[in-house]
Amino acid sequence: MTSFDDILVKVREYRPDDDLSLLQKAYEFAAAQHRGQKRSSGDPYLSHPLAVAAILAEMKLDPKSVCVGLLHDIVEDTGTPLKAVEEKFGPEVAHIVDGVTKMSKIQFTSAEERQAENFRKMMLAIVDDIRVILVKLADRLHNMRTLQHLPPDKQERIARETMEIYGPIAHRLGMGKMRGELEDLSFSFLEPSIYGDLKDQVEKKRKVNEAFLSEVQSMVTEKMKESEIPVQLQGRIKRIFSIYQKMKRQRITLDQVYDLLAVRIITDSIRNCYGALGIIHNAWRPVPGRIKDYIAMPRPNLYQSLHTSVISSTGQAFEVQIRTQEMHRIAEMGIAAHWKYKEGRTVDQDEDSRINWLRQLVEWQQDMRDPGEFLSTLKIDLYPEEVYTFTPKGKVVILPREATPVDFAYAIHTDVGNQCVQSKVNGRIVPLRYKLRNGDIVEILTQSGHMPSRDWLSWVKTSKARNKIRHWLNVQQRERAIDVGKRLLEKEARNFSVNLKKTIDEIDIGPVAAEYGCHSVDDLYAGMGIGKISARHLLAKLIPDKVFDEVTAVKDSKLTSVVKKVFGISSSDSIEVKGVDGLLVYRARCCNPIRGEEIVGYITRGKGIAVHAKNCPNVQNLIYDVERKIDVEWRGTAEEAYTVRLAIHGEDRQGLLAEVTSVISDTRSNIRNIEARTYPDQNATIDVTLDISDKRHLEKLIGSLKKIDNVFEVERILRPSSAISERPSG
Ligand code: MN
Repeated sequence: MTSFDDILVKVREYRPDDDLSLLQKAYEFAAAQHRGQKRSSGDPYLSHPLAVAAILAEMKLDPKSVCVGLLHDIVEDTGTPLKAVEEKFGPEVAHIVDGVTKMSKIQFTSAEERQAENFRKMMLAIVDDIRVILVKLADRLHNMRTLQHLPPDKQERIARETMEIYGPIAHRLGMGKMRGELEDLSFSFLEPSIYGDLKDQVEKKRKVNEAFLSEVQSMVTEKMKESEIPVQLQGRIKRIFSIYQKMKRQRITLDQVYDLLAVRIITDSIRNCYGALGIIHNAWRPVPGRIKDYIAMPRPNLYQSLHTSVISSTGQAFEVQIRTQEMHRIAEMGIAAHWKYKEGRTVDQDEDSRINWLRQLVEWQQDMRDPGEFLSTLKIDLYPEEVYTFTPKGKVVILPREATPVDFAYAIHTDVGNQCVQSKVNGRIVPLRYKLRNGDIVEILTQSGHMPSRDWLSWVKTSKARNKIRHWLNVQQRERAIDVGKRLLEKEARNFSVNLKKTIDEIDIGPVAAEYGCHSVDDLYAGMGIGKISARHLLAKLIPDKVFDEVTAVKDSKLTSVVKKVFGISSSDSIEVKGVDGLLVYRARCCNPIRGEEIVGYITRGKGIAVHAKNCPNVQNLIYDVERKIDVEWRGTAEEAYTVRLAIHGEDRQGLLAEVTSVISDTRSNIRNIEARTYPDQNATIDVTLDISDKRHLEKLIGSLKKIDNVFEVERILRPSSAISERPSG
């Protein structure tokens, strides 16, 4: 068992001048909190945090991280409140402990590859302090080293999670040693017999191989010296899991793994790279077809090196990699891209540059003398466009930034979205438009029969949610349109004393619907409901020998009165829809267009045609929906007044209001309401609502108002887009 003193000695080595009393305190606290607890191995529980702290000390992490190593399980496993950690060790240590605790609570459950990738990204995304990941990796490494004490089903689950999540994360961060050990340990539990066989074969020759590698290295050193090529050398034996992958991928035996042993030569120039290659080939026989010039032809991820496999005089094959310092640097830094490349994925430049940066950071902190402060002030945000959230069962749901619980609900299932009434985030009730954050555990409460609200459209972030809400609203409005259409037809039938029920019973209405270009009778009703088809016209078609005109009508048939009753909207007689008669037309309340203004019509569902001013902001939102657009124009010269609201901005002075009212009455505009406000900076705004007969009238009035002394702006106030309910649904 690691002793605390071992850890102190290690940290002291790279932090000779630091005050390590916090470490001592953490050790004592952890010992007290874990007292009496045992691991599955039977060892005192404390042995685990001590081992984790030792791994972190080996990684030369700052003393606070080592502290967290000692404390990382006390919140989760001893019920010590995080507050107590914060009081004793400060907010920074508490924050990292909290991050590690949160990470441990997440269990990777799905075996699906895509989900694994999401999960890895999420792990990196939810931490805002890189040390959380480093502590978690050390924790996992020690758990893997002692995994044999757990029951087989747990071994399997933890080993798989390590293989799919933590190994690749370590690799991404450039922690090759960590990754290698994690993967080999996982492999030994997941495929024990394959692992055992391979390991036996490798171990049998380890001593020989190590001796061989150092002999090669001294030979290389000597030969390079003779040719005056400056070099640094590295030697390695390939790891078990890595060997296994290669054997499997290339369907070869261990003897055929030419890079089981490798020597890396790092020199100063490209010229010397080729020079070194020549020297190597002179000394050892190259394996034909195994020379790769990635200097002349870099890999897609910009990796550059010369690779060659050679055979020693004893018949042992080994790989030699030759590169310059610069290439070495790029190869090391670009390892994230390398990882993706190896796994056959496309490289996302943006992501890789972020990962590279993170990786570089890990390296810096290992080299830096005092990285503590530097790391602590650092906030990482690897995936700024995405937010990683969970279902209560731990499934990862990736959403765009600022997504809401409603987006989450639709991502789960359309029905969940349609019926969601409330949401809980991390156990707390939040508004449906709450902006989700990384790591949020989201629970959606549904109620059958609950319906989506149109307002949701203005703040949902995913196109899935938007489309599903739209679709739902369309279906809903179509039902209303059918209903209105039926009522209109019934009313018109009554007006002309037609027994509608009898008529419909006698005539097959299907073909008639087809004549109107409708696919079904419901379409026909819907067409009437939205005002595209006239009920009177339809009746005339159904009963050709009857005359339908004002004379034969029982009473004046105001087509729209029934609609008015249903929806409480009045129609406008002063606007005409080009080429069509008898439509229900009304001016949109958002922009309230006045005669003479350029206007445009939109077919709404169930409410007829909304007429907007061409410059209405809502129209800008509607332009993509071209099928619903319809040409409209002002009819005749009917005397009609339009209500317009103006804001007159000016500098306050005596008599300003009086002058404004007199200008308005000079242009024969009827004032409905007027209100003046003054501001501390001597400015004033006069709000006036008045009746205007047309666009020219309005322009003339605005012109006159602007001529008043001290008035600097006259603004027409359109209702803000709260008039959403009048927008046709798209
Ligand atoms: Mn632990």
